Parts: sequence; C-alpha cells; structure tokens
Amino acid sequence: MCARCGDSLDRAEGPDPGASLCRVCRLAPPPFVRAVAFGLYEGRMKEAIHAFKYARLYPAAPELGRMLAEAIDRLSGDAPGEMLVVPVPLHRSKLKARGFNQAFALAQYAVGFLVARHPEWRLTLAATALKRKRATPSQAGLSPRERRLNVRDAFAVSDAGAVADKHILLIDDILTTGATARAAAQALLDAGAASVRVATLARAQRSFAPDEVLIGQETQGSFSAGPAPAELLPSDRTHFSGDPLSF
Ligand SMILES: [Zn+2]
Repeated sequence: MCARCGDSLDRAEGPDPGASLCRVCRLAPPPFVRAVAFGLYEGRMKEAIHAFKYARLYPAAPELGRMLAEAIDRLSGDAPGEMLVVPVPLHRSKLKARGFNQAFALAQYAVGFLVARHPEWRLTLAATALKRKRATPSQAGLSPRERRLNVRDAFAVSDAGAVADKHILLIDDILTTGATARAAAQALLDAGAASVRVATLARAQRSFAPDEVLIGQETQGSFSAGPAPAELLPSDRTHFSGDPLSF
C-alpha cells in the first residue's frame, strides 16, 4: 500500500520496486499527510455503503462508524493527539434530499469509539468547519479529470479562526481518485490548518492509469507515459479485511 494515500502498490508502479509511494503521490503529492481506510470499496462493503447512503439505512451508522474508528486507529503513533475532526460536507440541497450527511454520521460514531479507546487523544468534531460553496454533481461515473474539475473550489472554510494551526482529521465515506479529499484538504490548509489527515471507510482501488489522475495537476512534473490501465488493476486483492457486516 502507498504510505501516503493507501492505494495498492505493485510492480507497475514504477522503476523502484521498493518505493513506498504510488506514482500519483510521487508526481503530485497530495496536500494531506496520509489517508487511511478501513477496507476496499467492493463486495459487502460497497453494498453496505450504498444501503447507508442511497437507501438511507441510517441504523448502519454505528457499525460503519466502528469500522471507521478502526481505520483511524492506524494513525496512532503518527497523528497528533489533538485533532479537529471535519466531515466532508454535503451541499444543503443534497443534505435535504438525503436527510443526513453520511460523513458526519460516520465521524460522530467513530469519535465516540475513539474517545473510549484512546483517552489520551483529544478529538473535537467540527461538523460545520467546512462547507460546500456550490452543489456538485455526484463524482460517481466521472473520469478522474472530470472529478477534479467537479470539486475544484467547491469547498470553503466557514471560520478560519476555528481551523487555524489545528491538525485536521478529514472524514469521508469513500476515497476514489482522492479529488474530493485533495480539494477539501487544500481549502483547510489555505485557511491556516497545520496539517490534514484523511480517514474513509473504503478505498476504491484505481482502475485507470495514474496519468489520468495527474493530467492538469498544478504540481505535475514531467514524466513518461504510464502503464496501461489493465496493469494497474489489483490482481490478488479482492476482499476487504475485517468482520463481515452484521446487518
Ligand atoms: Zn499514493
């Protein structure tokens, strides 16, 4: 796994088989320090997230929150003990339609578990620290480039004083290309946050060439053509680890 974004590393990633970072993170380092996820976005995890978000199966929130807490647990030793927990916001139109923000619900339950498990941590949930400036179409079904453009300048910090010099733990349900996490993290850093870490329930493994993600990145350097998309597909990682869902 990439030490930065958690994507799978394989021989297709580049000339250095011992590299700890994926090609995307090497060529266009994300603004966040590190992203962790409980599992892969597939199989029962994918079904559970769909049920939670789209079928509004809110009773799944505590169990999914516990899984998110497990992912956040992996930051211990690396993350500062005091963090502001910021869920990725929904635009008010989407919030109204869905009835709840899944990232906020997950963050709320995860913080509950973590407070019990890590009494030395000081986690403060800041539900409204970040807001969506405009409604953005769903990222589902968009190409990496479309995803990046879709969320560009979509986020704003409501109160810069609340995030200034704070270490932020950004929460979302899924991390796919990282476009949303990058845009949200950048808005927080622009407002003066000291650092941003990202935790999600599930990580969708890339199924496209890193170049697709990178084209148009401001931080992009020069690089040779990437491997074919098929070579980037994970070969032997088909199941997420952890307990099966109990509902
Ligand atoms: Zn990476």
